[in-house]
Amino acid sequence: MYTIYLTTKCNFICSYCYENYNHHIELNENRLIDIIRFIFKYDKSQKILIDFMGGEPLLKKELIFMALDYIAKNYPEREVKYYMTTNCSLLDSSLIELTKNNNFTLRLSFDGCKEAHELNRVTANGECSYDKIFENIIKVRDSGTPYSVRMTIAENTIPFLYENVVFLHENGLDYICMIPDVYMEFSKKSLEVFKSQVESVAHYYIHEYNNGRKFSIDQFDGKFFSLLCDYGNCFSMCDAGIGSIKIMPDGSIYPCGFLTDNTQYIIGTIDEAVDVNRAKKIAVSLYNKQDNKCAECKIKDFCHGMKCGYMNYIRTGSINIPADSTCEYEHVFYPVVKKILNHFSSQNGEKLYQALGKHYEYINISHLKLSSLGSEIKTAINRQGA
Ligand code: SF4
Ligand code: SF4
Repeated sequence: MYTIYLTTKCNFICSYCYENYNHHIELNENRLIDIIRFIFKYDKSQKILIDFMGGEPLLKKELIFMALDYIAKNYPEREVKYYMTTNCSLLDSSLIELTKNNNFTLRLSFDGCKEAHELNRVTANGECSYDKIFENIIKVRDSGTPYSVRMTIAENTIPFLYENVVFLHENGLDYICMIPDVYMEFSKKSLEVFKSQVESVAHYYIHEYNNGRKFSIDQFDGKFFSLLCDYGNCFSMCDAGIGSIKIMPDGSIYPCGFLTDNTQYIIGTIDEAVDVNRAKKIAVSLYNKQDNKCAECKIKDFCHGMKCGYMNYIRTGSINIPADSTCEYEHVFYPVVKKILNHFSSQNGEKLYQALGKHYEYINISHLKLSSLGSEIKTAINRQGA
C-alpha cells in the first residue's frame, strides 16, 4: 500500500487528531507525477494499492483527478485499487462520480449524531459543517462507492456510542468502524460506561441480525477471525515500511502515518530509494526486549493490540507495549464478540451461513487453521446443510 499525502493541512481542528506537524507542506503537480513514477517503478506487482491522505486530502482534490488520469494513460496494464480518508466536508458530485468509476474505497470520518460529532470534530474557521457532511455521506452511500464510516471513540463520546451506531444503521450506513482515540485514557467510570455501551451495541447488532438487517461493525465482524481461527500464537505487527509506505508531499518516505511528523524516521525519498533495512532497524530499535506485557495474556490471540506497533510507540515508547487503554478496550470486546459468535452458532443453517459463510469461504481459500470454536461452528453449518 502506497499512501500519498496530498497536504499536511486540514480545514478541521479535531480535538483527538494525532497529526502534529510543525510546518505544513503541500504536494504540487510536478511532485505528484514524480511520486507516481516512483511507485510504479519501485513496485512491479500487477495490482497496486494507492491511498490518498492528508491532513484533508480534498484540499488538493485537483491532484486526485490528475493522478488517476496520469495512471490510466501511463500504466493501463496495471490494476489499481484506490483508497481515501476524508472528513467529507469538501466532497462533491464530481469527486464522488470519480470514486464510483475508479475502484475506490472511501473512509469517511464521521462520529454519528450531531451532538457527539460536534464535540470533537470542529472546523478551523468555526463554521458548523455537520449538515453538509452528513448530506455528502448520504451521497456516497447512494453512489455505490464502497465506504466505511470511521467513528472515533473519545472519552467524551463514549456515552453516545449506542445512539451513534443506531443513528448510522438507521440511515443505511452499514459499514461502521469504531476507532478508539489514539490517546484514550479510561477513567474507572468511563470504562464502565464504555462496557455498558458496547453491550448495548451488541444487543442491537444481534437484534438487527435476527430481523434480517445485519450490518457490519469492524470491532465485531473483524474480530470473528481471531476466535474462529487458530493462528498458532502468531502475534505479529503490520508491515510498516516494508509492504506499506507513506510518501509525503516533499517526496520523503516514512514507514507509518504515526511517524510522519518526525524526520528522524525517514526511510528514503522518491529521488533515491526506500531503505527497507532502515525500516526494520527502526522497528527493532523501538522493541523493548525487557518488557513483554502481552506474553502471558489470556486473550492475546484475540487482541489487536500488537497490530499497530507505531501507535503503541507513540503511547508507550515501545512498539511491543500497547497502552493500558488498549488492554481495557480489548477486554471489553472479548466477551462481547464471543457472545455474538455463540448466538450465531445457535442459529439454523441458512442464518448461520448468512452471518459467517463469507468468513469460512475466506478461511478455506487462505488455508487457515480453525480454532475449536471455529470447528464447532463449521460442523453446525455443514450439519444443517447450508
Ligand atoms: S479531519 Fe482528520 S486530519 Fe483533519 S483535524 Fe480532523 S482528524 Fe485531523
Ligand atoms: S489485552 Fe493487553 S496484554 Fe493482552 S494481548 Fe492485548 S494488549 Fe497485550
